Amino acid sequence: MPLPADYHMHTPLCRHAAGEPVEYAARAIEVGLTEIGFSDHSPMRQDNFDEWRMNADQLSEYVEKVEKARADYPQLKIRLALEVDYIPGHEDWIRELSAMYPWDYLIGSVHYVSDDWEVDHPDKLSEWRSRDKMQVWGVYFDRLTMAAESRLFDIIGHADLVKKFCFYPDRDCTPLFERFLHSAAKNNTAIELNTAGLRKECREIYPARHILNLAFTRGVRVTFGSDAHKPDEVGMDFEAAIRLARSVGYTHWSRYAGREFSYARL
Ligand SMILES: [Zn+2]
Ligand SMILES: [Zn+2]
Repeated sequence: MPLPADYHMHTPLCRHAAGEPVEYAARAIEVGLTEIGFSDHSPMRQDNFDEWRMNADQLSEYVEKVEKARADYPQLKIRLALEVDYIPGHEDWIRELSAMYPWDYLIGSVHYVSDDWEVDHPDKLSEWRSRDKMQVWGVYFDRLTMAAESRLFDIIGHADLVKKFCFYPDRDCTPLFERFLHSAAKNNTAIELNTAGLRKECREIYPARHILNLAFTRGVRVTFGSDAHKPDEVGMDFEAAIRLARSVGYTHWSRYAGREFSYARL
C-alpha cells in the first residue's frame, strides 16, 4: 500500500525552515512517498504581521519553487498549497489569497488566540502562565470551529496544537472537540494527522487519539502531514500516524487536487 501523501511541508520563505522544495522532494522519494504537498505559511494582508511567514510579494517565488520541484521530480505528485492562519476578521483576505494561484488545497490553522499571541510560540510561554488554561483552550477550539464553519479551508491543521507545551486544562474538553468536529463533518473539512507533535513537548501526534476517535465516529476525513521544516522531516513518523488512524477505524485518507477531493486507500 503506498504511503499517504505528506501534505504539510514548509519552505525557507517562512523564515524558520531550511531546505528548498527540490530537497524536500528528493527526501520524499527516498522515504517512499509518491505524493507530497507544500503548505508554507501564507502571507497576511499586511507584511511583517509576525516574523514567521513570507511577505505577499514572495508568493510568486513560492509558486516558482514548487514548480521547479515538480519539473525536477515528475515521478512525484507535488501539490501546491498554503497553511493559512485563521483569525476572525481575516476572511476576505483569505478569499483573495485563495484566488491568487491554482492551489490544490488550503490548510486552515489556528495559531493565534488573540491578535498578538500564538499559543505555540516558544518565546511567549509567559502568556500561558498568566492565563486560565480552560479559557485558552476554549478560544482555540472556538476559532477552530469558526475555521471549519467558514468553508475557506479543505483541511484543518494540527487540530489540538494548543497542547504543544502541555498546558492542559483540568476539565474535560470533549464538548469543545465535539462542536468543532460537528462543523468539520458538516462542512466536509478534513483534519490532518500531524506528526510534528511527536517532536514537541507534548510528544503526541496532533490531534490526540480521543479527538481522532470522535472524528472517525462523525465521519470527518483525514490527511497526513509531517509539518516538515527541513528535508529530513519529510514523512517523519508516518508509520505511527498510519497505525493511529487505522486503530481508530480509518481505511482511507483524503487526496486533494485543484481543491477537489477524492478518497485514497490507507
Ligand atoms: Zn502550523
Ligand atoms: Zn506548519
